[in-house]
Amino acid sequence: MASSESFAEIIAGVDFAQLEERILAVRPEAVDRVLRQPRARPEDALVLFSPAAAQRLDALVQRAAAITEQRFGRAMQLYAPLYLSSACTNRCVYCGFSHDVVMERRSLNLDEAVANARVLHDQGFRQILLVTGEAPRHYGVDHIEQVARAISPMFDSISIEVFPMEQADYGRMGAAGVDGLVLYQETYDPGIYAEVHPAGRKADYRWRLDGPDRGGRAGFRSLGLGILLGLAPWRPDAALLVQHAAWLQRRHWRSRIAISFPRMVNSERGYAAAHTVGDRDFIQAMAAVRIMLPDAELVLSTREPAELRDRLIGSFITRMSAGSQTSPGGYIEEGLGEQFEAQDGRSPGEIARVLAERGMDAVWKDLDKGFRV
Ligand code: SF4
Repeated sequence: MASSESFAEIIAGVDFAQLEERILAVRPEAVDRVLRQPRARPEDALVLFSPAAAQRLDALVQRAAAITEQRFGRAMQLYAPLYLSSACTNRCVYCGFSHDVVMERRSLNLDEAVANARVLHDQGFRQILLVTGEAPRHYGVDHIEQVARAISPMFDSISIEVFPMEQADYGRMGAAGVDGLVLYQETYDPGIYAEVHPAGRKADYRWRLDGPDRGGRAGFRSLGLGILLGLAPWRPDAALLVQHAAWLQRRHWRSRIAISFPRMVNSERGYAAAHTVGDRDFIQAMAAVRIMLPDAELVLSTREPAELRDRLIGSFITRMSAGSQTSPGGYIEEGLGEQFEAQDGRSPGEIARVLAERGMDAVWKDLDKGFRV
């Protein structure tokens, strides 16, 4: 029987500075020991996220690529985000939609949302991610539910990346056709979390941290976790992310965990990342996750530039967004302000061609609705 202790309670006593020190002190011999084992475990996170492991980056990447091919084949799922509303009452210091950014806000009505979704459907997408800011009174559960219900016949998989909800509201989402939840903690360090989320509902660290568990209890097929690289030292944050994923996987074994490492890009606020994360660190983070969590989806968005995305095709990534517009209505008309500027502006067709050139299958849908249990 699953323990009643929440993940927030489990990590309540973690000292992040001490955790980072332990990771920085890992010796190369410890890395070699883990790499010699037939299978790594989430408990190896401190070792595999260490600077010592960065010196074995080629070995990490090769191991991660072999595991990915064995578990997922040469397939890449493609999805697109559909931004429904840029209204937000939160004040995340790094975000272009933050409440204190002066901009014209836009929320799509049902017809506009369906029309934008149809564009994505006509491009070939059968997996879609609905995105909103957090302004439940203005654009809340009812709105998202209506959109999901209306577009459900067009898509095999609908995920939401919105505000944390009660379990009962996640249940309503599920009944409307939503099967995936994406809820990034941004950082697991409560001190930094408080600094970068100074006001609004998102300032409640614990309410957000417990969100994926509520989603698992509501029966979502996919639970997406992530940290926003740039906010905090990435190594201890990634170690906590892996523990969170493993904990959720044990409690909700029917759900598949999906992990993403969005890297901060310039927002309209001009917020500069406090802890920049270079390409080698970024690649180490993902390769290490694949080695410890062989069945997790690894997701790469258009925040990353085309050149890096192409390099990572055929490695350990299993799901990519393509042709993304990050403003509400952006698939039909010039948007009214983006959350962030996409770095890879290629069309879905171009991405599919690159995948084919690399001997990869572009998968526009995951699992046909009729086959779900
Ligand atoms: S990150 Fe999300 S919650 Fe925070 S300001 Fe931006 S849209 Fe709102």
